[in-house]
Amino acid sequence: MAELPRLISVREVGPRDGLQNEDPVPTSAKIELIDRLSATGVQRIEAVSFVRPDVIPQMADADEVWQRIKRADQVRYSALVPNARGAVRALDSGLAELEAVVSASDTHNRKNVNRSTAQSLDEIAEIIQLAHDKGVSCQVIVSTAWGCPYEGDVPVDRVVAVASRAIADGADSVSFGDTTGMATPGRVQRLVGEFRSAQPDAALNLHFHNTRGTGLANVLAALEMGVADFDASVGGLGGCPYAPGATGNIATEELVHMVEDMGVATGIDLDALIDAAADAERIIGRVLPSQVLRAGPRSRVVPV
Ligand code: ZN
Repeated sequence: MAELPRLISVREVGPRDGLQNEDPVPTSAKIELIDRLSATGVQRIEAVSFVRPDVIPQMADADEVWQRIKRADQVRYSALVPNARGAVRALDSGLAELEAVVSASDTHNRKNVNRSTAQSLDEIAEIIQLAHDKGVSCQVIVSTAWGCPYEGDVPVDRVVAVASRAIADGADSVSFGDTTGMATPGRVQRLVGEFRSAQPDAALNLHFHNTRGTGLANVLAALEMGVADFDASVGGLGGCPYAPGATGNIATEELVHMVEDMGVATGIDLDALIDAAADAERIIGRVLPSQVLRAGPRSRVVPV
């Protein structure tokens, strides 16, 4: 087996990506969840998004959530912004890390924000500038990186070109999102390999979904290529908007459970994380897909 990174940085996306794809929950429950996650040792948390409240009511209280959480010194908190207007709101609220998002698939981008991928990239250049003017970093998320619900497979060249444009415009890092859960390990290594050839110095984060059961296999394929930044969602919060009832994000405790046993450190206390996942399940009021939440860690023994 290839040598794996000794340490990875996990970004917990349950409070934003997860909850945005669930029925709305009370503001106090969101704050409680983020505070619990902040105490698990996780390095990064995607806390909120600054979107139009009439379009995404789940994030209408983003400002209040951001102001009321107990921010831990060792955690980097970020906000997703869909456009320059959202970026200004996030910057006014004092966020120190922004995520701007564009879809590699033109059809998906048009369905989401009613403009072409190229038009979105123009606005993202503006967002990056706004962020940098305030000393704030900006990651560009390239969604549908392994496939589009409308177009099917998205050519690797196209995904790399979109990411390269964002980097040319000053993006501090890129994240590839498997929005539709279409990635498999071979496809992960192909895209990461092509991207690294084109952009050897760029920081790369990966965001996998477990929609078709390949989430952790994809993580391992990326680890083998030296990728060390991953998104995951506590309990596996969040669904797949294109496949009702299907699983979305990989579960953070499943990721931590697997990689730590392989000698890859995350800095996360697995027991504390499983407790947070149980809390997330209680908040949402439905059984979450995480199997480590159900079964407990592999070290668990049954009393004789
Ligand atoms: Zn996701």
